[in-house]
Amino acid sequence: MAEPISKQQMKCDEATAKSLIVDNWNSVNSSVSETAQRCGRSPDSVRVVGVTKYVDAEITSWLVEAGCHDLGENRPQLLESKFQTLDDSNIRWHQIGNLQRNKVRRLLPAEPLVHAIASERLLDALHNECLLQSRSIDGLIEINVSEEEAKTGLPIDQLEPLLVHWRELAGSSNAGLNINGLMAMAGWGTDETAAARQFAKLRELRDQMESSTGISLPELSMGMSGDYPAAIAEGATLVRIGTRLFQGVLPTG
Ligand SMILES: *Cc1c(COP(=O)(O)O)cnc(C)c1O
Repeated sequence: MAEPISKQQMKCDEATAKSLIVDNWNSVNSSVSETAQRCGRSPDSVRVVGVTKYVDAEITSWLVEAGCHDLGENRPQLLESKFQTLDDSNIRWHQIGNLQRNKVRRLLPAEPLVHAIASERLLDALHNECLLQSRSIDGLIEINVSEEEAKTGLPIDQLEPLLVHWRELAGSSNAGLNINGLMAMAGWGTDETAAARQFAKLRELRDQMESSTGISLPELSMGMSGDYPAAIAEGATLVRIGTRLFQGVLPTG
């Protein structure tokens, strides 16, 4: 994976970058609101997670200044270092990528929402470390909705057993891991129609699980720069948007 860029590597100068980031943030938000309204949903029901894995802490801080207070990183080390550098209690952190168990202890002080829980071992590690550190965090189970061999995420048929396991593990404790939704990525190279089908599948799965287990799963994290309108139409509550927020700033964008 490419290293996050610093301001020396931007496509434009600092003042231009700051104003582009403000414009991009505003246009993504209006587009998300309009899409929600067109689908008969309240604009408040969809939150934009600004994915900042492409840029260093300084450029990330310009997005925060533009008004984005939900920041998503896919590498836990980068999340942890930005959490320390930016030191801003108004930021809600999102660990959106794959997470190894040996990274959990150092990640938890940021109290991130963990989007990509796809195994019982990771779920247990998160819950147990939360108890050790007396913390509560929210987490989402990542589902492999595209059913491609190489994709990340839990196979659909393993979701119900994992939820039942989580309830037994966490049921009576106040601190710990709170599972409150599902996450998915559309398969690479899927067109908008195929992506929409996969997002619909995640929503239907959520509805089934809520009725079969009684566990409430209000959050659906789905949709990125290229497919968020389809995700919102299918019920996304969190959209994870990176590239579009840094358009004109990233050397390749
Ligand atoms: C990078 C990333 C995103 C953002 O993708 P863009 O296409 O840049 O908007 C969303 N979700 C995950 C899990 C990612 O790794």
